Amino acid sequence: KQQSAREYVQSIYETVIHRNQGEKEFFQAVKEILDSLIPVLEANPHYIEHSILERITEPERLISFRVPWVDDNGKAQVNRGFRVQFNSVLGPYKGGLRFHPSVNASIIKFLGFEQIFKNSLTGQPIGGGKGGSDFDPKGKSEQEIMRFTQSFMTELYRYIGPDIDVPAGDIGVGAREIGYMFGQFKRIRSGNEAGVLTGKGLGYGGSLARKEATGYGCVYFVNEMMQAKGLSLEGRTAVVSGSGNVSIYAIEKLQQFGAKIVACSDSNGYIHDPEGIDLALVKQLKEVERKRISEYVKARPNATYTPGCEGIWSIPCEIALPCATQNEIDEQSAQTLVDNGVIAVGEGANMPSTLSAIDVFLNNNVLFGPAKAANAGGVAVSSLEMAQNSMRLSWSFEEVDAKLHEIMRDIYRNSEAAAAKYGYPGNLVVGSNIAGFVRVADAMIAQGVV
Ligand code: GLU
Repeated sequence: KQQSAREYVQSIYETVIHRNQGEKEFFQAVKEILDSLIPVLEANPHYIEHSILERITEPERLISFRVPWVDDNGKAQVNRGFRVQFNSVLGPYKGGLRFHPSVNASIIKFLGFEQIFKNSLTGQPIGGGKGGSDFDPKGKSEQEIMRFTQSFMTELYRYIGPDIDVPAGDIGVGAREIGYMFGQFKRIRSGNEAGVLTGKGLGYGGSLARKEATGYGCVYFVNEMMQAKGLSLEGRTAVVSGSGNVSIYAIEKLQQFGAKIVACSDSNGYIHDPEGIDLALVKQLKEVERKRISEYVKARPNATYTPGCEGIWSIPCEIALPCATQNEIDEQSAQTLVDNGVIAVGEGANMPSTLSAIDVFLNNNVLFGPAKAANAGGVAVSSLEMAQNSMRLSWSFEEVDAKLHEIMRDIYRNSEAAAAKYGYPGNLVVGSNIAGFVRVADAMIAQGVV
């Protein structure tokens, strides 16, 4: 008897749960994608015959290593480092490094798995990878950050290279950390291989518009979703969680489109500024002074600060961009957003909505831009940075931004078309998962069982 697509997916879940005991974030990411692949598996049973899901859910390689370093008191500390090289069928493994105390194998594998499909959606020649450490940069001195980051690279260097695996930043890893890692890699390898990391400083191989890319791209994506319905961002009220690299440039682009952003946050709490966020102040606090967002209200007396993070979603808004971290919007927060009249949600962070929160958005006809589509702009421009490094030249800001805009438009159109083709018009969760999957699966079949 032939196995149905649904039974096949169910059997994969059992294997994934068995092999990855207790790794709930990884399973959540797998479930979100595989559930939406059922229609494509029904229409194309050869994906089942080629055991694509068995192969795609198992990383090609998962590296775990010790990262020893000495703190400012002269005491030896040990953190855990990871790199998952999930799938290289479309190109060198590509994906960021996250430094955060929550990092473990489950978090890295969920991020790496998402990255395969996200990178595929960009249309660029990049495979999926991710890495990081449970190191907590909060409260560490500049010297401690440098020592830790150098030690991390002293182990990671043996697994990466411009044509092998190309890390970049993520939570806790920005231009400063990429700079230290690049310096250490160069020292160990005695050569200047610019394309080994992306998100580099502009003076040594970085790309213009890379810093802005994830946030700008997310807003370009939301703009596409709205335009398709005859709506615009002009004059809309928006809430953008986070105040890191993604959030700051999402706010900047939203402001350029004429929206008013009334709230943002960090991991301790959120600020509400009904007159509209003063972005220059946020940049000064977060990018220059590296302070907490609570400091914002000292300079803006009409703004309020509230400790805790979920409350930000109870502020009425038409546009909501979760740009902080995974599972920051649960079912209840999603319902509150819907009750308050949200029109569009664009996920700037990775997996910021729980599975039941996504259902709430879709069941209430909210325009929902899922992470792997909406936040793909960052890694897309990383791929453009690799291209510029290979050519030993650099494009202008306008050139990179125009390419980014075009990539985001294509991701929207391809996701929309895939959703319609398989019977889920308007459902970009299904559409982006299918569009991302098909390119990877076809390449896996073409390259044989490897
Ligand atoms: N960390 C980003 C992401 O989640 C960027 C990865 C990259 O540029 O390689 O996609």
